[in-house]
This record gives sequence, structure tokens and C-alpha cells, in this order.
Amino acid sequence: MSKLQSIKGMKDILPADVALWQHSEAVMRTVMEAYGYREIRLPLVEKTELFARSIGVQTDIVGKEMYTFTDRDGDSITLRPEGTAGCVRAGIQHGLFHNQQQRLYYLGPMFRHERPQRGRHRQFHQIGAEAVGWEGPDIDAEMILLVSRIWRELKIDEIDLEINSLGDHDARQRYRKKLVDFLSRYESQLDEDSQQRLKTNPLRVLDSKVERTKTIIAEAPNILDSLDSYSRTHLDALQEYLSAAGIQYRVNSRLVRGLDYYSQTVFEWSSSRLGAQGTVCAGGRYDGLVEELGGKSTPAIGFALGFERLIELLSSRANEMRIDVYLVILGSIAKRTGLVIGEELRDAGLNVVSHCGESGIKSQMKRADKSNAHAAILVGEDELKSGTFVVKPLRSGREQISVTKERLLEAVRDVIDRSEVEENKPARSVEFNG
Ligand code: ATP
Ligand code: MG
Repeated sequence: MSKLQSIKGMKDILPADVALWQHSEAVMRTVMEAYGYREIRLPLVEKTELFARSIGVQTDIVGKEMYTFTDRDGDSITLRPEGTAGCVRAGIQHGLFHNQQQRLYYLGPMFRHERPQRGRHRQFHQIGAEAVGWEGPDIDAEMILLVSRIWRELKIDEIDLEINSLGDHDARQRYRKKLVDFLSRYESQLDEDSQQRLKTNPLRVLDSKVERTKTIIAEAPNILDSLDSYSRTHLDALQEYLSAAGIQYRVNSRLVRGLDYYSQTVFEWSSSRLGAQGTVCAGGRYDGLVEELGGKSTPAIGFALGFERLIELLSSRANEMRIDVYLVILGSIAKRTGLVIGEELRDAGLNVVSHCGESGIKSQMKRADKSNAHAAILVGEDELKSGTFVVKPLRSGREQISVTKERLLEAVRDVIDRSEVEENKPARSVEFNG
């Protein structure tokens, strides 16, 4: 029989990688909470209409990337391609935005039927945040500070921030016209995708990665020259706040977002270490969306950060789970004592891997070494008779010692502390410092 495989573009996250996912999730949740963001948990499927109305029919996502099905009741439903639409839908539905301001975050899988490649999958994961009810630019700055703190906490430094402003609705229409006039003169020289976008979503042409199109775009009118005065002041204030907070950034007037609902501030972090899919986090202001989805006109801003690209940035680090002790257990009588010792060490907060199954001391010691544990404890019949146990440091050349059961914990802690000092690691912290 042929073996079944996972669906193209949908990846398993294997145990060896999960520690890194959990670590970054925990760090990001802590940072969110430090800024007063509260988690909201949302369905993975929504009515197709929600995405058509919010993201925009002419966008890549709605036009060709959505997983849309007719369910058994004949309703058109879609696996969520992003989180903002569902979050805003839920906020309106439950009255969360009614005379209130909300800082919300969510995380989980998103689905887009794209061409799978490095940094681009069909099921991928995002953590996203939405601040609803503030006009900014202070909240815009705060959000950028929040993401910058995530990079700092995760010790990611090769990452660059770009910001831009798309202006208000009228400014965008004015610019759109200028841009279409300009690009139409070079239509035949544009790549095929951009020719298409020129008709449907011309601002997106600015986003093209195709060299010959990029050469033309370099000469295109600058969106910042079309800004309305409110948006200009907003952008100036945002820049002032960022500079005051010591945040490095670049204004990139070609930066646009692929979704229709954005206005004014847009921002993006990217890393040159990720190849063609360099953007790790992107967001912006969407002042028109709440009203568009049936709520009262409410300003809002949000971002989404892609886990897979983040994990790729982190994965050059030691991504192994922390193991303190490997229990080497010899013979069936020793099993009982071994199980009990394991439990006692875990009660004291240590991570312990206990050898299960029958094998000789050589092969168990090999596994102990491979486990990357700090120490091995030998539990065999001799130890049971003498009442003393051998503690063998695994990460340093130190001598093994024999201790009574009562002194085991102390001895193991000593081994861990010494090897952490030698490896120059902060004691008892999670090990992701690269
Ligand atoms: P891109 O230009 O890379 O397609 P986008 O503009 O479609 O990005 P957003 O919708 O703003 O992306 O999503 C925010 C983040 O989510 C991206 O910066 C990226 O980290 C991640 N992301 C988006 N699409 C995918 C995907 N198909 N696979 C993995 N991560 C993704
Ligand atoms: Mg995309």
C-alpha cells in the first residue's frame, strides 16, 4: 500500500521543533500582556462573505488563495486566511467596540492556497494584535514598540523596520490615479502579474519583486507627495515618537499592503536572512474596516507576525528541550527505585528522562550522552545494596561521585550549576540564548 502523506503546503511540526515554538509563543504572550493586550480565541472558519467584504475581492488572498467550501447546508464558508476580519467581526458581534477601546491578540493557524516554498506554506501560523478605538499616532508607536520588544526578548537583531503612510481614502484615490497614469505608459514593459494588478489593484504593483517592474517603479510618483495634511501630521508624529524611543526605522514610500482595508500608517519588519520571503511581521491602520463590517465608524490598527519565518530566524539556536537528568536503570529490581527517584527529582522541578526498556549500561550511557542532559544517575543492583548512587556529569569532564539517596538532589543541582557556569549560561533559565 502506498503511504499517505500530509497535504501539500501543510507541515507537521515535529517534537524537535516544538520547544522553540512554545518558547516563542510564551515570550510573545508575555510581551502582549505587558502592553495590556488580552487574548481572543476565534473560529478557524467564517462565512466567505466576511473576507470578501473586508480583505477585498480584488486582492490575491480573496481572488485566488482562499480555501472556500460549500458546507452541508449549502453555505459558502472559508478557512480563515488571516485574523483581522474575524477579530473585528467578533468585536462587533459581541459589542466589544461599543463605547470601548480594545487591545486584543490572537494566535493560531491561517490558510492560503499559495505556491509552497521556503517561508510560504498553505497552513501557516500567525500571532496578531488589534488595537481598536484609538486614532493614534501614539497607539501606532506603542504597537511598533511592542513588536520591537518581541525581537529584543527573542534576541533577534538582524531585522529592519520600514514604515509608510497610505493617506486617507481621498489621498489614496488621488495617488491611485497618478500611479495608473504613470504605469499605463509602461504597461507593455511590466511583468504579467503587474499588468493584471494595474487594472485591479494598482497599488500592489509597487510590491512587485520582478526586476524589470522594479526599475519602472523606481521612477513612479511618490505616495508621500499625495498625502492629505492629517496623514502627514500623523506620520510626522509617529516618526517623532519612534525616534524618541530609540527605534531604528526607514520610511519606504513604496511600502504598501496586500489587503484593501489599510489606510494611513503601514509598517513591516523583514530580515535578509530569510531569502525571498523576508517579511516576518506586517501591519497597519484600518480605520474604515469596523464600519465596513457593520459597526460604528471606529479607528483601528493591527499587525500579524508569521511564526514559520520567526522560527526560521530562531532555529540556528540550540533548540533542544532542557533535560537535567538521564536515569540509567539496570535490571528489573532497580526499576522500582528508578521510578521513585525520577518522581522525586521531578517534584523538585527537574526535567528527567528515565530509561525505559531493557538495555545494557553501555547503550544506556550512550543515550544519556545524546540526550544532552546535565547528569546521569546510575540505578543498579549494586547501588540498591550499598544505598549510594553514582551521579555522572555529562557536559563537563568532572569526576563522577557517589551519594546517598537523600543527597541525590543536592548533588544533581551542583552538577547543573557548575556546568552552567562553565558553559556561561544564566542559571535555570530556558536555553535559547544563541
Ligand atoms: P507576503 O508578501 O509574504 O505574501 P502578505 O502581505 O501576504 O505577505 P500578511 O497577510 O501581512 O502577509 O501576513 C503577515 C505575515 O504572515 C507575513 O509577514 C508572514 O510572516 C506571514 N505569512 C503570510 N503568508 C504566509 C504563508 N503563506 N506562509 C507562511 N507565512 C506567511
Ligand atoms: Mg501573501
